[in-house]
Amino acid sequence: MTKVEDKKENVGICRQYCTVCPSYPGEGILFCARGKSSKAVEKQGCYCPSCEVQTEYGCTGTYYCIEGACE
Ligand code: SF4
Ligand code: SF4
Repeated sequence: MTKVEDKKENVGICRQYCTVCPSYPGEGILFCARGKSSKAVEKQGCYCPSCEVQTEYGCTGTYYCIEGACE
């Protein structure tokens, strides 16, 4: 079980960050709950530190699309 709930509200918030992030791999969402992207991701910045989902669940990481879910 990951910390972050895989729910619609969190997906909606995530869309405002991940999909406009310069590193976004082009598909997938809510990496902090669902785990890393199946695509290769080039680190070009991560918006997770500004995201409310991150704060709500006490996560402190970045690049969940590369590192995997917040545990
Ligand atoms: S996890 Fe971070 S780096 Fe990856 S797409 Fe989302 S905001 Fe961008
Ligand atoms: S912390 Fe990152 S991966 Fe998680 S919902 Fe926010 S923007 Fe998306």
